[in-house]
Amino acid sequence: MNRPTPIIDTHCHLYYDDFQQDWDDMLRRAEEAGVTGMVVVGADATSSRQAVEIAASNTHIYCTVGIHPHDADGVDEATIASLAELARNTPKCVAIGEIGLDFFRDRSPRSEQERVFQRFLQLSRELDKPVVIHDRDAHTETLAMIREAGVTNGVMHCFSGDTAFARQCLEQGLYLSIPGTVTFPSNQQLRDVVAATPIERLLLETDCPYLAPVPHRGKRNEPAYTRITAEKVAEIKGLTLEDVARITTMNAGKLFGIPLWDSSTRIAYRIRNSLYLNITNRCSNRCSFCAKFDEFTVKGHNLLLDHEPGFEEVMAAIGHPNDIDEVVFCGFGESLLRLDLVKQVAAALKQRGYRIRINSDGQANLAHGRNILPELQGLVDSISVSLNAPDSATYARLCNTPFGESGFTGVCDFLRQAPTYIAEVTATAVTLPGLDVEACRLLAISLGVQFRVREYAEVG
Ligand code: SF4
Ligand SMILES: [Zn+2]
Ligand SMILES: [Zn+2]
Repeated sequence: MNRPTPIIDTHCHLYYDDFQQDWDDMLRRAEEAGVTGMVVVGADATSSRQAVEIAASNTHIYCTVGIHPHDADGVDEATIASLAELARNTPKCVAIGEIGLDFFRDRSPRSEQERVFQRFLQLSRELDKPVVIHDRDAHTETLAMIREAGVTNGVMHCFSGDTAFARQCLEQGLYLSIPGTVTFPSNQQLRDVVAATPIERLLLETDCPYLAPVPHRGKRNEPAYTRITAEKVAEIKGLTLEDVARITTMNAGKLFGIPLWDSSTRIAYRIRNSLYLNITNRCSNRCSFCAKFDEFTVKGHNLLLDHEPGFEEVMAAIGHPNDIDEVVFCGFGESLLRLDLVKQVAAALKQRGYRIRINSDGQANLAHGRNILPELQGLVDSISVSLNAPDSATYARLCNTPFGESGFTGVCDFLRQAPTYIAEVTATAVTLPGLDVEACRLLAISLGVQFRVREYAEVG
């Protein structure tokens, strides 16, 4: 299979003396931990220049330029202009920051913090670079200033708010960056934020040399420990470390333009312990809520096919994984439109002892003009069918079926007949606003199949 995805420490202060003594060892430990990308964040004029220098001499290290609220007092326009020049002329300067408000320590007068913050927000817009925001005990004021400045591209670093504040930041378009404090036993609030936030909006950071995670708490932090945070996020989200690395590295690519995410198209792709197959981008339906109309990425995998793969190509993409629970025909498309290929691949995989599932829109009998279920008998262990509606009108509205009235009766008939041929049959519904999920459940039960709710805005 593919190489493990690099993990990115999106916020570190590597210019401090703390790292001078063991610089090479520190980088080696990071590499061994899989943390091969870093963003060194400037906090004042001097450290911003140091960050730029470090980035210039290390391939996968990037930098930012900014003034921390602690150091805002007395920063003049000439300094701001010189930092703007530095940011503009440094290709590896991926953001403006860290900037923001710190009303916890109040090391600079609040009026000064606000003045400098406002100037750098403005600068980020002028330079079209995202912002790295430091916010401590100033949630309302920080977000108000970001909104006022019209900034929608950035990250709340070392996120310290609750889930309600997290939602507001996400609505503003911001990412949330998760530090090692997510491992502290007392920090349930941050774990709740991680649980409630789509992982497509999270980044990972150390903020080193500060805030080392358990079991290094109280000692000097370093980039290698980003992996500990990634492991904790994986545990909270029910994902694997590789999933978290891939998705957060994609996120860092989108926000900062760091090119460490592998964006090549996937025919076979892993999420958790399942191997998914992406064999077509065609669907019968055109579901109003489908994420593919925004972008063709699922859990950090690019699924946009430039051609429909044949049998050999699919088998080559699968390889010989020995540590998966099941193979799932899924992707952003309706696999059963390619019924012959599904049967061929499923037969080959069955011989090797894999468990096979199909995720389907349940329109296959309508699309093929015959009952195809007997053809899946013995090849498929489980089928999961998107029901998504308790009645025909709702189905037509949500799923835009091309089969009119028969679209809904077709999916119901498909579900009713499926248990004769397939051992495990599940109808699913997405938690769309206004959808009567309970009515969907009752319908599924009346059709003699299991029922499962899928979270809206949670793909894969
Ligand atoms: S059937 Fe699935 S992939 Fe196709 S449009 Fe509907 S939700 Fe999207
Ligand atoms: Zn900070
Ligand atoms: Zn910092």
